[in-house]
Amino acid sequence: MIIGVLALQGDFREHMEAIAACGHEALEVRRVSELEMCQALILPGGESTTIALLAKTYGLIEPLRKRISEGMPTYGSCAGMILLADRILDGVSGQETFGGIDMTVRRNAFGRQVDSFESELNFVGHQLRAVFIRAPWVEELGSEVEVISSVKTPAGEMHPVAVRQKHLMATSFHPELTHDLAVHRYFFDEVCK
Ligand code: GLN
Repeated sequence: MIIGVLALQGDFREHMEAIAACGHEALEVRRVSELEMCQALILPGGESTTIALLAKTYGLIEPLRKRISEGMPTYGSCAGMILLADRILDGVSGQETFGGIDMTVRRNAFGRQVDSFESELNFVGHQLRAVFIRAPWVEELGSEVEVISSVKTPAGEMHPVAVRQKHLMATSFHPELTHDLAVHRYFFDEVCK
């Protein structure tokens, strides 16, 4: 499979490496012609406001929305989760997303308590160490969204941090920053199926 990584800003190189380590071909996506070559797409961690602005400048917002809504398997980590959310809280004024997952995501949600932290979590039966950096959490979700993993916040509340809606998946954390390929493998083997 050719897996595109939106390469406008953020940690797209780490996702490229994880894709290759899983035995797939990785393609940096900055143009519509590159998007058209992909069978699936990853939206990296970074800064969602910057990624959205650059996507607009490159004329990618509508083509991305179209491919996502037409069924292209897409995975977003951290800023990528924000970009896949239909609704966001604590965005900057006028901040756009590509949307696709029927959920409300709060930006920098943990940041109000701690900026970054690591936590052990269970991801579909796989125990992993998740890295959270100014991470969003899911505050409200539609009936078609499945919670894959949740975490207890420093204030003791549980919040979903990995979700799936059909061909779309999002995590608040960054599996691309650890050497554990479980999340990428789940995306390729289960979500892209
Ligand atoms: N806080 C960032 C944003 O709003 C996301 C942080 C990240 O991707 N590590 O886009």
